[in-house]
Amino acid sequence: MILRPTGTEANLMKMFLISTLALVSLNRGAAQEDKPRDSATAVPEVAALEPELEALYRDLHEHPELAFHEERTAETLAKRVKELGFEVTTGVGRTGLVAIMHNGPGPVVMLRAELDALPIEEKTGLPFASKVSTRNAAGVVVPVAHACGHDLHMTGWYGAAKIMSQRRGAWHGTLMLVGQPAEESFNGASAMLTDGLFTRFPKPDYAISMHDEPSLPSGQVGFHAGFFRASADAIDVTIFGRGGHGARPQNTIDPIVIAARAVLGIQTIVSRETDPFSPTVVTIGSIHGGTGGNTIPDEVRMQMTVRTYDAKVREHILASISRQVEAEATAANAPTMPSVKVVGGTDAVYNDPALTSRLVTALRRNLGTDGVREMPAKMTGEDFSQYGRAGVPAVLLHIGAVNAAALASGEKLPDLHSPSWAPELEPTLRALVSAEVIMLMELLGTQPTDAR
Ligand SMILES: [Zn+2]
Ligand SMILES: [Zn+2]
Repeated sequence: MILRPTGTEANLMKMFLISTLALVSLNRGAAQEDKPRDSATAVPEVAALEPELEALYRDLHEHPELAFHEERTAETLAKRVKELGFEVTTGVGRTGLVAIMHNGPGPVVMLRAELDALPIEEKTGLPFASKVSTRNAAGVVVPVAHACGHDLHMTGWYGAAKIMSQRRGAWHGTLMLVGQPAEESFNGASAMLTDGLFTRFPKPDYAISMHDEPSLPSGQVGFHAGFFRASADAIDVTIFGRGGHGARPQNTIDPIVIAARAVLGIQTIVSRETDPFSPTVVTIGSIHGGTGGNTIPDEVRMQMTVRTYDAKVREHILASISRQVEAEATAANAPTMPSVKVVGGTDAVYNDPALTSRLVTALRRNLGTDGVREMPAKMTGEDFSQYGRAGVPAVLLHIGAVNAAALASGEKLPDLHSPSWAPELEPTLRALVSAEVIMLMELLGTQPTDAR
């Protein structure tokens, strides 16, 4: 089912109950087979948790917070995992949290969820849609919404934590839950690492995380070994000219013309300077200059993003952007050379191939081959990369979150970061919790003598 804007809360609850009942009868049939073939039969504890998880999801969804402001969010999760018996530390990397459960000798396994939401006005029409607005870092009032599914991820993370705490007798080692702030700005993981995530707390032997995915049907797990998500750099450029009257251009240096030439020059970097076999994107997503048609401004500001997988290409593009804007400024005899600043970024996500293969085998054993699908790499970034860069074998997997029939229809559906994005909650959440428990049990469920 899709949580459609037209549905009332009562209807949604009814649909939830109907599909839960359908699920129970499905479980009965599947239980007679040798191997479970869906998330509910693979991890039977999930069914009983669903009402609690849905309530938590609604609460998190209704109260989104921007990067590094996730105080309420972190507190909500901290309280819940403390009740499960985890040792909880908040304020790690400003607003992050770490929850540890020591359960005898064995590997240390980290499960990460992101805490932050986006400055987007929600238009899902859901009964629990966000109505929150807040001031951003620049002091501007912006709407806030969970338009990337981090509320879903946190709910799944808590569900998996609860089941793992119930299964304490069946695994050995240390379960390390990480609630990471500021994924959207790509600096939460590094903030936590700088604040001692792997020194104040045990350094994990494995790190895993899951993200909702609009190209896969609800509940299906997507994986990709090796490089999976591109490096991402945010670049701010300011072009300086000399402002003046729009009717006397001879007395000015027009930064708008310099910027226009620079935009076209920068857009030839990928087509003319990089290997076509090396996936690369340069997007100039913001350009601002001037206040009126009859005035030539002093400066133009541009914001861009660079995505690639190759460190050398990344370096080349950043250098080339500087070269292009400086060349245009020189050609126009600009009084000051442009300013080019890399204001944020993250490395490419590399999914450890051996760990990916081990997890996929475990997931397929429990969810069936069709439930786990290989998917292509993407040009979107994720700062989960930083845990791998810190020396921990790490895997980021995706969980399909779109109604299968709607996806098959070819209809244009909302993407992540769209004001209308909402996962098809119930099957996605159930599969997310199950997949995380399956993976944690695979990594922690061995006997102590087998571990490390
Ligand atoms: Zn996002
Ligand atoms: Zn996200």
